[in-house]
Amino acid sequence: MERHHHLVCIRCGAVQDDYDREFDRIAPPRRLAGFTAHGVSVQVHGLCNACAQAAETRQSPHAPKRRTKRWPRSSREPRRNTI
Ligand SMILES: [Zn+2]
Repeated sequence: MERHHHLVCIRCGAVQDDYDREFDRIAPPRRLAGFTAHGVSVQVHGLCNACAQAAETRQSPHAPKRRTKRWPRSSREPRRNTI
């Protein structure tokens, strides 16, 4: 599987794959207790295009309800190690 990263919308929860080479440069920490790292994938939190536009055009005081949880708790960490 090709190395890729995730762009996660904090508003609607949409997840896009990202193939930015800048993120590929991040090296895993040399010492990880009880773990051999093969790589790092980055999870970027922000707004997708649709939500960014919605935020600009109609600024609602209330954030829309979150739809479904797409990811288990463990994947919410900013960085995930991939094998
Ligand atoms: Zn969104």
